[in-house]
Amino acid sequence: MENNAYQVLLYYKFVPVEDPETFAAEHLQFCKDLGLKGRILVAKEGINGTVSGTVEQTEEYMNFMHRDPRFRDMTFKIDKHDGHAFKKMHVRHRQELVTLRLDDAVSPMEKTGTFLSPKEFYEAMQSEDTVVLDTRNDYEYELGHFRGAVNPDIESFRDLPEWIRKNKEQLKGKKVLTYCTGGIRCEKFTGWLMDEGIEDVNQLHGGIVTYGKDPDVQGELWDGQCYVFDERISIPINRKEHVVVGVDYFDGKPCERYVNCANPECNKQILCSEENEHKYMRGCTHECRVSPQNLYVKEHNLSKEEVQERLELLEKENLKQEA
Ligand SMILES: [Zn+2]
Repeated sequence: MENNAYQVLLYYKFVPVEDPETFAAEHLQFCKDLGLKGRILVAKEGINGTVSGTVEQTEEYMNFMHRDPRFRDMTFKIDKHDGHAFKKMHVRHRQELVTLRLDDAVSPMEKTGTFLSPKEFYEAMQSEDTVVLDTRNDYEYELGHFRGAVNPDIESFRDLPEWIRKNKEQLKGKKVLTYCTGGIRCEKFTGWLMDEGIEDVNQLHGGIVTYGKDPDVQGELWDGQCYVFDERISIPINRKEHVVVGVDYFDGKPCERYVNCANPECNKQILCSEENEHKYMRGCTHECRVSPQNLYVKEHNLSKEEVQERLELLEKENLKQEA
C-alpha cells in the first residue's frame, strides 16, 4: 500500500530580507527542530526552497511562514510523497536566489513579465505568432517540455542571457511565453528580457508544477516528465496523455530514467535503461567506465576480470556495428 503521509513543498518569494545570513542560520535551526529535510536558499531578494516532511511537519512549517508578514501570501506547491525527498536539511545564504550574475538585471520586485494562469498559457501556446521559450537547462528539457517549445540548450541558467542576445531575432515581434519548474527563474529573468527590447513577454504563473495540478488544463501539451531537484528526480505533469520524449543516451530508445555517470569526477546526468546501465557500467564514456573511481564497479564488486569482460563485449558490438 502506498504511504502518502509525507509531503514535498516547493515555494519561493521575491521580497526584501534584511540580514539574510542571520535569517538563514535561524531558519536552519527551526527546520531541523521541526524535522524537515530539504534545500532552502535565502538572499536579500527573498527565499527559495524545497522541503519534505510528514504532513504535520509541513503544515506547521507553512503556518509558521504565513504568520510572517513577508511571506503571508507565499504560495506552496504541495506534492504527496512516500517519504523524505532529501537526505539532509540545508539553508544557505546566497547573493541571488537563482544565479544570473547580470549587473544590469532589473529586480523582479520592480519589473517582470505578465503572469499567465495555466489556462491562459495553454490557450496562448496555441495561437499564432507565439514563441514558447523553455528557460531551464538542457538535461531538464531532454526529459520533458511543452510541445514545440524552443530549447536554448544551456548547461546553466546563467547562460540564458547570452543565448537570448544571439537569438533575439526569433523572439522579436512575437508573443513570448516563458516557463520553468516552479516559476522563480522566469520571474527573475523576464524583466531583463523586456529591457532587452522584447515587448510582449509572458510567464507561466506557478511554473510547470502548477500547470500539472490545474484542474482545467491537466497538464495538456506537456510531453515527457518534469525534472525536479530532489530525490524524486522527475514528476508526471500531463494527466491526459503520456508522450515519452526522453531518449536513452546509449541506444536512442525512449527512456525516462536518469542516472549519474558512475565516474564521480564526471557525474554527468544521462537517461539510461537499467539494461544499459549494467552493460556500460554506468559510464558515459570509455574513460568513465575504466576510471578507478567508478562507483558502479564498486557497488557491484566487479573484479578486474569482470570489468574487462564487459569492455570486450562492448568492443565486439562496436566492431559489429562498424562492419
Ligand atoms: Zn562520465
